[in-house]
Amino acid sequence: MKGFVTKAIGGFFYVADEKENIYRTTIRGRIRDTVYPGDYVELKDEVIEKLYPRKSLLYRPAIANVDQVLIVLSVANPEFDRRLLDRFLIIVEKAELNPLIVINKIDLAEEGFYEQFKDYQAADYQLYFLSVKEKKGIEDLKRDLGEHINVLTGPSGVGKSSLINELVAEEKMKVGEVSKRLKRGVHTTRHVEFLAVENRGWVADTPGFTSLEIKHIQPEELTYFYPEFLPFLDKCKFRTCSHTHEPNCAVKAAVNDSLISVDRYDSYRNFYNELQEN
Ligand code: GDP
Ligand code: ZN
Repeated sequence: MKGFVTKAIGGFFYVADEKENIYRTTIRGRIRDTVYPGDYVELKDEVIEKLYPRKSLLYRPAIANVDQVLIVLSVANPEFDRRLLDRFLIIVEKAELNPLIVINKIDLAEEGFYEQFKDYQAADYQLYFLSVKEKKGIEDLKRDLGEHINVLTGPSGVGKSSLINELVAEEKMKVGEVSKRLKRGVHTTRHVEFLAVENRGWVADTPGFTSLEIKHIQPEELTYFYPEFLPFLDKCKFRTCSHTHEPNCAVKAAVNDSLISVDRYDSYRNFYNELQEN
């Protein structure tokens, strides 16, 4: 039987079958690789016999096969910060995972708040506006988590735990149990646990991408992490154009023609300088 590892604690691996029944299993010595939450394994008599090839592996905490990252930010408390969103986007793009931009606490949004997101819409990012408090916008997001292995990231206080509470299939666990599990997830970073979303997706109760470090990114590759720049890259005069000071730069021309937003271009230049200083 093929199963999905939801958590690994004290030498035991909790493995879900297709119907999301969970088994507590062990590993035979034959598998030398470590098995992490998110791994697909072959089970026989509650013993893991084989580890299926991994598509990806995140570290600290180690989580396998993640393919989507929910970048969760809030309108207020803490206040929305575009530069922080861009930083998360760069990190997620570098990891070659699909970012979903989730803006929570829209019950606190003032007029004009949504204006600034047209840049992200133009760049074709998937955007979700929610109020977990008022249970708004959650269904659209939930739909797009199906068949995916998801982790959340974002600063503390934006509503990540509250959101997970809404996302996980309630019939799969008693209400009291959910909050107990979540509390444990918040207080210990060592144990990751995948919880089933109602429509077959999985979401980890521990945030991924806890580090906001971008030192592993080369200044030259930054441009590829701004999707709206892509159509212009091969039109710059110099193949190695950094889009900062070179003549005949198609990206700068696109900014002048309002095809790329000034804010996003400034953001690019800022991160470019930060990376060059490293
Ligand atoms: P986390 O640190 O990201 O896990 O955030 P929490 O889920 O612990 O939420 C932080 C605070 O924000 C709590 O007091 C929540 O009740 C509150 N909160 C969560 N979602 C919303 C929302 O949609 N609107 C408002 N106004 N508050 C919210
Ligand atoms: Zn250029």
